[in-house]
Amino acid sequence: MPRPITAVIHRQSLQHNLSIARQKMPNSQVYAVVKANAYGHGIERVYQAFKSADGFALLDLVEAKRIRALGWKGPVLLLEGIFSEQDLFDCEELNLSFTIHSEYQIEWLARFPRPARFDVYLKMNSGMNRLGFRPEQYRQVWQQLSNLPQVQRLTHMMHFSDADGERLGRDGIEHQCQIFDAVIQDLPGARSVCNSAAILRHPQLQSDVIRSGIMLYGSSPDYPSHSIQDWNLQPAMSLRSEIIAVQQLKAGDSVGYGSRFVAEREMRIGIVACGYADGYQRITATGTPILVDGQRSSLVGRVSMDMLAVDLSHLPSAQVSSEVVLWGTSKHGTVLSIDEVAAGSGTIGYELMCAVTARVNFIQD
Ligand SMILES: *Cc1c(COP(=O)(O)O)cnc(C)c1O
Repeated sequence: MPRPITAVIHRQSLQHNLSIARQKMPNSQVYAVVKANAYGHGIERVYQAFKSADGFALLDLVEAKRIRALGWKGPVLLLEGIFSEQDLFDCEELNLSFTIHSEYQIEWLARFPRPARFDVYLKMNSGMNRLGFRPEQYRQVWQQLSNLPQVQRLTHMMHFSDADGERLGRDGIEHQCQIFDAVIQDLPGARSVCNSAAILRHPQLQSDVIRSGIMLYGSSPDYPSHSIQDWNLQPAMSLRSEIIAVQQLKAGDSVGYGSRFVAEREMRIGIVACGYADGYQRITATGTPILVDGQRSSLVGRVSMDMLAVDLSHLPSAQVSSEVVLWGTSKHGTVLSIDEVAAGSGTIGYELMCAVTARVNFIQD
């Protein structure tokens, strides 16, 4: 028997979440963002559910090749563009769209020796200060690219830094929208501006191509302002395991390495086959929610490499082989959102779902 820990990928939930993106922005083309191996879910495991998307967006050529190998003929967008001049040959062969965010990429493109016609997303740095051309430069760069015979189509692109919240007391997107609109104004071409937080929180935004990532996987981009229930999203991944031992503690007994948890009174705990080597973060705080047989309980003591402990004091029927859900949906139907668990270690759902380790068995339902 393998260890009982599994990550279950729920195809119907992926489909459902994609439909929410469509509902929010019915006039936009919805690209499914599948970078980081589909946020840890596995590109091949999400592909069927996302086939009804208008395109896929991701980071590197290896992932783009995997999407093409699955038979996808539609748009594939490289969000960080090309990393070398040679990448252009793959873009040509695989018919990939790509971002241009820096001068050196334009030089590579201008030198491309064959009569290719590339689909280019020109990125504006409208305030995030990671990638893109500054607003002052943008129109000149746009003109330069428009004149290149290698460019077939140019889409205006930018990325929000604060779509999930407030910035300086103002709406977090307004300042970037204003800059973007002011610069682009009369220029022809489609626009791509929205990530999940913008799709959910600002459905009035005009964006021809939207880039939905985290929402498709059933995590709320602006938790705790909104939960997945508020946005009507469903967890796409359930990290499930089982209780493999039960301990009866007396008052004063401690649990785990460093004796970080000491029982104040008699209590029953379950030892779960899941640890930080599976991707459950070691720094997760005592009290972080865990489901046992579909009922809420909580983490006790320090997470070790292969195990963690859960409080069973109020769950007398829980025993060895009881189902444990670290995040996601229980077989009993109860939901524990990854956002709540991430809060227990001071991080966000994105990081947890990307970091489930290779030793965990992935299955699909
Ligand atoms: C990752 C990414 C997205 C998707 O963001 P989510 O918050 O996961 O929806 C969109 N656009 C770009 C440029 C990205 O890198």
